[in-house]
Amino acid sequence: MNLATFKGGVHPPEKKELSKEIPIQKSPLPDKVVVFMQQHTGAPAKPVVEVGQKVKTGQIIGEPGGFISAYVHSPVTGTVTEVKKISNIIFGKAVEAVVIQRESEDEWELLPHGDYEKFSKEELLDIIKKAGIVGLGGAMFPTHVKLNPPQDKKIDTLIINGAECEPYLTIDHRMMLEKSEEILIGIKIAKKILGVNNVYIGIESNKKDAIEFLKNKWKGQVIVVPLKTKYPQGAEKQLIYAITGKEVPRGGLPMDVGVVVQNVSTMYAIKEAVVDGKPLVERGLTLTGEAIKRPGNWWVRIGTPISWIVENLGEGFKEGIENVKVLMGGPMMGIPINNLDTPIVKGNNGITSLIPEEQRGTFCIRCSYCVDVCPMGLQPYLLDLLGKKRKYDEAVEVGLLDCIECGSCSYVCPAKIEHVKTIKLAKKVYRALRGGKK
Ligand code: SF4
Ligand code: SF4
Repeated sequence: MNLATFKGGVHPPEKKELSKEIPIQKSPLPDKVVVFMQQHTGAPAKPVVEVGQKVKTGQIIGEPGGFISAYVHSPVTGTVTEVKKISNIIFGKAVEAVVIQRESEDEWELLPHGDYEKFSKEELLDIIKKAGIVGLGGAMFPTHVKLNPPQDKKIDTLIINGAECEPYLTIDHRMMLEKSEEILIGIKIAKKILGVNNVYIGIESNKKDAIEFLKNKWKGQVIVVPLKTKYPQGAEKQLIYAITGKEVPRGGLPMDVGVVVQNVSTMYAIKEAVVDGKPLVERGLTLTGEAIKRPGNWWVRIGTPISWIVENLGEGFKEGIENVKVLMGGPMMGIPINNLDTPIVKGNNGITSLIPEEQRGTFCIRCSYCVDVCPMGLQPYLLDLLGKKRKYDEAVEVGLLDCIECGSCSYVCPAKIEHVKTIKLAKKVYRALRGGKK
């Protein structure tokens, strides 16, 4: 097989065998959900419900707080018990959340929906916006904005991201095998909105069954591109380069080279919204890792606490393991969770439970392994150093803002330096000092 790829990257153990053969199962409904008003890039949504109010599944509970923002919906049918600020580990700050006690099975409040071919581009974008759809691969950028780039950006190519390069995670793999018809409808809708004819899907070579299946199933409609299995093959810029040979300029976006990238699960969510009227209130995720008793792939309601998922779907952690490390996402880009009552959010494609590893953080021996693997051509050891010394302007000059936070540098570092932690903090401080401007 001729495999497309990019320069740099790492080969962590894949660990997909824990869950890749397990079909996606529907989770029972949780009794309580905690729904953040910020589950997307951009301005937080504003809560539009009050304590004591009855809500239906799919009812709007948060309205966009700006141009780049997203609607938020109730994932269950019940009563609002709290509206308050709760610490949100993803955004590193306390944000407004709506707590809902479930009282019955679903009573749905649906969006206008029907045959997608009868809707105009504007109507389709409006449904996607009202459905609160954001990038489900983890980026959580509002999809209606991404599918509607400024007029001076001519888009000619849509790339569907089926790489799923994060170790352990298998939900996109299962989606491609089990939901190919729905995903294809989502792709047709995105194609109509963007007005493009070139559609590719990139899939890593460790998912041979999905590659062969979709080549056959989507023949003549979507070009299936097998990709080398290498992390971070699914990062947007690396995926675009591997498939089209185009390089997104430094500081630029995919639309600067005429490309829009969408995740397979996002395509599924678009079909659900437009054809069935269902806003984004649940998603597929992988529950996995060496510490969980029962790994699997699940449909789970947004706002379900991780503790509930671990106990009810994963049968808890294995006995005799102390200090299990739980990540929202996979081991490379996942966010460590210190409070298991944290609820899942729209961009949450997995929960990975790991056996604790040895301590991190000795000193740099200038081996340059991190430089060799950086897919963005950066000097991670230098970014770490400048970040720690608070020399933010200098760090920006050597590419701080180009870092895609993939974690490849930390993965290969013999000194176990956690570059991404320093880089994320440095970006945050730099942007705060610059008043939010880049
Ligand atoms: S510096 Fe950033 S882009 Fe480069 S390897 Fe490290 S995390 Fe990835
Ligand atoms: S891999 Fe680690 S030890 Fe080697 S140069 Fe980079 S930061 Fe230093």
